Amino acid sequence: MVNSATAAPVVTAEGVAHTVRGDVATSELGVVLPHEHVLIDLGKFFEEPTDPIEKGYANAAITLENLGWVRFHHRQSRDNLVLSDVQSQIEELRLFKLAGGGTVVELTPACAGQDLSGLVALAEATGLHVVASTGVYLDEFQTELTRAMSSQQIGERMVRDITQGIDGGEIRAGIIGEMGCSWPLTVNEEKALRGAVLAQLATGASISIHPGRHPDAPGLLLDLLSSCGAQLDRIVIGHLDRTIPEHEDLVAVGRSGCFLEFDLFGQESSHVRYGPVDLPNDATRISRIAALIDAGFEDQILVSHDIAVKKWLSHYGGHGYDHILTRVVPRMKEHGISDVALRKMLVTNPARLLALSPSVGH
Ligand SMILES: [Zn+2]
Repeated sequence: MVNSATAAPVVTAEGVAHTVRGDVATSELGVVLPHEHVLIDLGKFFEEPTDPIEKGYANAAITLENLGWVRFHHRQSRDNLVLSDVQSQIEELRLFKLAGGGTVVELTPACAGQDLSGLVALAEATGLHVVASTGVYLDEFQTELTRAMSSQQIGERMVRDITQGIDGGEIRAGIIGEMGCSWPLTVNEEKALRGAVLAQLATGASISIHPGRHPDAPGLLLDLLSSCGAQLDRIVIGHLDRTIPEHEDLVAVGRSGCFLEFDLFGQESSHVRYGPVDLPNDATRISRIAALIDAGFEDQILVSHDIAVKKWLSHYGGHGYDHILTRVVPRMKEHGISDVALRKMLVTNPARLLALSPSVGH
């Protein structure tokens, strides 16, 4: 039973992370990408075009001939929306490992095609630590089974996934997410979020949130989570890049104590719209992060790529999972971000994010 009155287990940065190959001391995680998708099926986002030539592209495999079109119509290419080739994804993840990477947090929930045996194969072949998640994505992805469940039942399922194993298997989830939130939040999404808080209170696990596409969304979500008793310093507000453009508004969110995640590094096209806020480029992301560090929030910042479609993979001419280490970190240094702050963003903050008490589930 999940009991919301139970005090959450005390978690320190010296805890363990649940990975798909077992528990790992958080001091061993190295550089962590806290928000990625390596095996995922976003087919529910598919939008069929009406133009006959575009219809042909929409249903074809990605080639050099149609890649330019896919870059600007990424929800209209079926092939683009699915990452399922384990062998090819091993090669993609190796680039991160070669660049100095240590751990990938794979935030794909079951309802978006989570592939646990594939994640084990990826971890074994690359030597990376891979953390799997338990979560409920956007309403449109939710199964009828999940929609019929109460918050309590959703929370109990998440507790089982974290303490015993996902879906009755032996792989334990290491984080709750990615919790999909639309703008405005739907009834089913709110119910799932309340379940996530119950699971957090029972296990100490962090919750990673995909907020609605509106600058007011993070604040409203934090109010809701706070009213449920969530540990706000173990909440990640993701996708801040496309959600909050103003420094003062980012500071207001940061004052809650939550993690501030800029997880769309490498996405630089202002022609792919994510709601009312223009997508910034990496230079703007770095400026926003530098300003937050200056304002004293360096212990809360996380960075990642949220790669979820083929056009962002290196095989398809994209930026790939090594982009932050290969290209962004040197730019951050040029921008005056210190080695101390870099280490916090890449290593220490995500270690705290993933730290669970070794006694969880034992
Ligand atoms: Zn994501």
